[in-house]
Order: sequence, then C-alpha cells, then structure tokens
Amino acid sequence: MPVPLAAEPVPVTGWGRTAPTSAQVLRPGSYEEAVRAVRECGGRGAIARGLGRAYGDAAQNAGGAVLDMTGLDRIHEIDAAGGLVTCDAGVSLHRLMQVLLPLGWFVPVTPGTRYVTVGGAIGADIHGKNHHLSGSFTRHVRALELLTGDGGTRVVTPEGEPDLFWATAGGMGLTGVILAATIELLPVETAFMSVDTERAADLDDLMARLAADDHRYRYSVAWIDLLARGARTGRAVLTRGDHAPLDALPPRLRREPLAFRPATRLPAAPRFTPGGLLGRRSVGLFNEFWYRRAPREQRGRIQKLSAFFHPLDGLPEWNRVYGPGGFVQYQFVVGHGEEDALRRIVRRIGSRRCPSFLAVLKRFGEADPGWLSFPVPGWTLALDIPAGLPGLAAFLDELDDEVAAAGGRVYLAKDARLRPDVLARMYPRLDEFRELRARIDPRRAITSDLARRLGV
Ligand SMILES: Cc1cc2nc3c(=O)[nH]c(=O)nc-3n(C[C@H](O)[C@H](O)[C@H](O)COP(=O)(O)OP(=O)(O)OC[C@H]3O[C@@H](n4cnc5c(N)ncnc54)[C@H](O)[C@@H]3O)c2cc1C
Repeated sequence: MPVPLAAEPVPVTGWGRTAPTSAQVLRPGSYEEAVRAVRECGGRGAIARGLGRAYGDAAQNAGGAVLDMTGLDRIHEIDAAGGLVTCDAGVSLHRLMQVLLPLGWFVPVTPGTRYVTVGGAIGADIHGKNHHLSGSFTRHVRALELLTGDGGTRVVTPEGEPDLFWATAGGMGLTGVILAATIELLPVETAFMSVDTERAADLDDLMARLAADDHRYRYSVAWIDLLARGARTGRAVLTRGDHAPLDALPPRLRREPLAFRPATRLPAAPRFTPGGLLGRRSVGLFNEFWYRRAPREQRGRIQKLSAFFHPLDGLPEWNRVYGPGGFVQYQFVVGHGEEDALRRIVRRIGSRRCPSFLAVLKRFGEADPGWLSFPVPGWTLALDIPAGLPGLAAFLDELDDEVAAAGGRVYLAKDARLRPDVLARMYPRLDEFRELRARIDPRRAITSDLARRLGV
C-alpha cells in the first residue's frame, strides 16, 4: 500500500509554537511504509515525530518530510513475570500506563506529561523526577529497532552496538527512525503515590533540603517561585514521594488498587489569552497563592499517579494560553560545585521579572551514557517564558553563555534558539556524534530543523 503522503506541506511546530515550518507529514502504518518513506524522501530528508511535545524544532523539517510515528502503535509483547514490554515507537506512555498498571508495572521514567511516545522518550532520552535514582529513559531500554538513512533496519542493543545505541539515546531522532523498543518496567503495588510536601524559604534552603535527603525518595522535584526577590529569592514547594504500597491505601482505594484513573480532562485551554493574563502581576499573584496554599510540611499524602506526575495533562492544549506568539521553555543544568552560577541565574531571572509560573528545580543523579543526553550530576532548572517578552532573545543568549561557562548545558528537547557555537561548548561528544551520523547516513536522509540550525 502506498505511504499516505499529505498532498501539500502543512505547518508543523513544537509544543512552544514558536518556530513553525512546513513539511509533508507522512503517517506510516507499517514498518514497510516507514522504510519506503525514508528511501524515497527527497533532498530535504525526513525526521521522525512522536506526539510533538518537544518544545522547539526537533521534530520539524522545513521543506522535507516529517514521519508522524503515532500510526505505529502496537504493543507486541508483555512479559508480566519479568517486567518487560516490547512495543512500537509510536505507543504513548499514557497507553503503556493504561495497559501495564493493572498488571502491576509502571514505566521506568516518566516526564511531566504522559503524552509522549516511546520514540520521543528515547530520542530526547527523557528524564523524570527519579533521575537521581534511576537515570534517564534509555538506561531502561534493552533493545531498539532502528531504520537508518539508507533504508535498512537493524536491532540495536547497548551490548551489540554501543556507539549507535548511545548516540540514538538523546540523539533527537538524527541517527534514524526508531520503529520499536523493549523496555524494562518498574513493579508497583498500586496506582497511587505517597507524597511528602514541604516549603523551602529560599534557594539555599531548597538546595540544602534536596542535597540532604533526596536519596530517601524515588521521586523528587521542586516548584520554584522565580518572581520572588530579596530574602525570598528561590522560595519553593518541594514534593517528594514513592509509589504507595498497598497497605498505605485507605480501605476504599484498596478495592481496585491498580486501576489507572487519571484526573478528568478539562475543556481545552482558551486559544487566546486576554492581554496581561500571563503578565508579571498576575503570575506574581499566582505564585504567591501557590506558595501559600502548599502545606508547610505534610507527610504521606496519598495522591493519584496522574496528579503527582502529570498535573498539566488534565488541561489539553494548555500551551495555547500563551497566545499566538507561543512560549519558550528554557531548561539548563549546571554541575555540583556550580551552585553560585545557579544562584546568579535565578537572581537574574528574578530581576528580569520573567513572568514564569511553571518553573521547576531538580537535582540530577549520575550522567547518562547517551552521547547527547542532557543530564549531568547537578542542578537543573526549567521555566516557561512567553516568547513575546521584550529583549528575551538577548537575555537568553546571555544565560546560555553563563551556563556554558559553568560547564553546564541547555536541553535540546526544549530548545528552539540556541546558537551552534554554544552547543559545541555544552556537549563535548558532539563531534563524535557528527562523525557517526556522517558514517551511517552520508546522504543526510535523516535531518531536522534543529539539526540544520545547530549544525549537528
Ligand atoms: C508538559 C511537558 C512536560 C515535559 N516534561 C519533561 C520532563 O520532565 N523531562 C523531560 O525529559 N522532558 C520533558 N518534556 C519534553 C518531552 O518529554 C520530550 O520532548 C519528548 O521527546 C517528547 O516526546 P514526543 O513523542 O512528543 O516526541 P516529539 O516531540 O514529536 O519529538 C521529540 C524528538 O524525538 C524524536 N523522535 C520522536 N519519535 C521518534 C522515533 N520514533 N524515532 C526516532 N526519533 C524520534 C524527534 O525526531 C525529536 O527529535 C516535557 C514536555 C511537555 C510538553
């Protein structure tokens, strides 16, 4: 059957909606169709796309082909005794949770949304609130099936072809199209979390709390108020927890402890934001409210998985509240020992009065083996900023320089604006990655807007 080619190129953007470009969007329904799409792509090449949750231009390809992989969504095999699943790369983590939780298994790593595909999770080598303990997603991948730029497919394992495997982990789709993967799972007794919450008075208090006892929790993250200044700079609400064991549940929840019932999805967010709704004043008020409503200290609260991991998934298309100009998500990491750089950057963001209400700070564990994987041991901060904020581009360029000078890096899955010279300073294995790409895909059949922008 022919690959269903879109007749005309259509606009494609990332989740931040900042840099739309047009491409022919193909939706292969079989591996054979995906192979044909890569073999027959024109001079502008092709890139795989999952659910489009990368914020920037990673899953875009101006003038070329974009392979929407969500048509490949079969779960091939579940080893319910050994905790392994083999599925197509277009399967979402949401679907895996629906199918696996009733069997007592959970995905090894989940980001802040479960609407990402397995291919996107490997492509960006995503991290979750458990990075300090479990590392990034691809550490839990036993094997993947890869369609390379020459149209050939192969099964790649960390033991058999470590270079190709670890270049693909976090390689932003640029080593080829992942068709399927085998993933190790985490056993759980319930679909609920046991959560401890505490407030931190400022950034130093927060870092001290994270450093002192993150190791006691499987999951840990802090919401941070980036509009607070002076003595309150970096005040935060810290939530940490683990999967609730069966005996921690109240009797009414014990009847169906593994039922996965995410919070009801609300109507889609408004497409337009009346001017000022996301201005400094309203975000400042929101942050004040958010900080004060959090308990000073609370232990062992039982919460649904979806409320703990994916609060934003209850509001579809929430990315539209930023209006037609979209928004930038800026996420960087600086290593342990670079706390002063983090303090400086947090102060600068505060003084710049960036109206950011979705800011999170997390302490990463060991670095991952992926050549372009983002996490390194240290502190990662992620914040949303409306793209229309005056002077934003120059401000973020300055932050990039500060991050790079501290030996840190910016996360490519969130990026749409980094400069190529800065990228090379941030990712020391970039040249090796480029060489591998040139070797396995000399005709550059696999490429993206991000690859062209950054010269990857
Ligand atoms: C609300 C929200 C919260 C988030 N929280 C986190 C977080 O906590 N941690 C984190 O790490 N990330 C987080 N992200 C980012 C998100 O997890 C990643 O961008 C992820 O890659 C998105 O997966 P996707 O299926 O939507 O892929 P897309 O966005 O469509 O693509 C992302 C990249 O993966 C590649 N890719 C996709 N499918 C394939 C495939 N089959 N083969 C090869 N390459 C492929 C693409 O080429 C692209 O480079 C968050 C995003 C949102 C919107």
